[in-house]
Amino acid sequence: MSNLIELKNLKKYFPVYGGVFARVVNEVKAVDDVSLDIGKQEILGLVGESGCGKTTVGRMTLRLIEPTAGQIVFRGQDITQVSNRAMEQLRPKMQIIFQDPFSSLNPRFNVERIIGEAMLVHGIASQHNLRDKIGEVMDQVGLSPRYMRRYPHEFSGGQRQRIGIARALALDPDYIVCDEPVSALDVSIQAQIINLLRKLQQDKSLTMLFISHDLNVVKHLSQRTAVMYLGKIVEVAPTDVLNREAAHPYTQALLAAKPSLNPRDRGKMKSVGGDVPSPMNPPSGCRFHTRCPEVMEHCKHEDPKKVEIRPGHIVYCHLYT
Ligand code: SF4
Repeated sequence: MSNLIELKNLKKYFPVYGGVFARVVNEVKAVDDVSLDIGKQEILGLVGESGCGKTTVGRMTLRLIEPTAGQIVFRGQDITQVSNRAMEQLRPKMQIIFQDPFSSLNPRFNVERIIGEAMLVHGIASQHNLRDKIGEVMDQVGLSPRYMRRYPHEFSGGQRQRIGIARALALDPDYIVCDEPVSALDVSIQAQIINLLRKLQQDKSLTMLFISHDLNVVKHLSQRTAVMYLGKIVEVAPTDVLNREAAHPYTQALLAAKPSLNPRDRGKMKSVGGDVPSPMNPPSGCRFHTRCPEVMEHCKHEDPKKVEIRPGHIVYCHLYT
């Protein structure tokens, strides 16, 4: 399988301002030297606790956030080097589905406008066939075209997320970032949306980056899964292998953890012991060493290198070197 996207040594450091003159006093290393690839027509899961940098990675692949360093190669072209104008031409091919269907839709626009506006701008439809095109994409996500004139507040949470998916599909993309698309929905609705995304990926040969804090959600959808901790990738493997034979102590802890049932704790796991250190001042050596049950002395000083423990199963941990 050839790659649609390759991330090479990607970094994003956000400045932290302080003092009376609001000078840069520190930086948050949200993403620190991430290299990953996503094959054509693959769904890659990207998993980790809240604040690990997974959303920043997803948005950087679309250049919604500019990287501090590194390359993003899309269809063979480093898009960190292309002009804004060239990027605008690529943008219809790279779309995003947001986490919160309640805040990601403009409440003053009806569905016709939410889906149709970009279709007109990018020449996917003309005034002549716009309503037919909107109806087609609504059909594809399981919404009746009769609801085209309705506003977001007239729909349930699951229906609103279908509108968000329709908006992403409307521009006929090759690549979609799904940023926690089911975590704001009731459990009973989550399976419906996951099944819809799986069907659309197959029907339209889409490539997806599916971001979630929950390995249980990702395992129903992705062919491979990458696990992030505190700005770094710690493990990548085919999803069935990762769930059966996780190698990194952090992945093992995530698999043993249960997502919190408290809605205010969304994105947190209950039984990964200890607190996540600050990304402003991450631990030296292996960043997981302050919470790792297997920690050794050299873990505290030496950054673990990439090890391929079996074909396609990559881990960053001193237990394997
Ligand atoms: Fe644990 Fe050391 Fe592996 Fe880090 S490198 S996960 S501290 S054993």
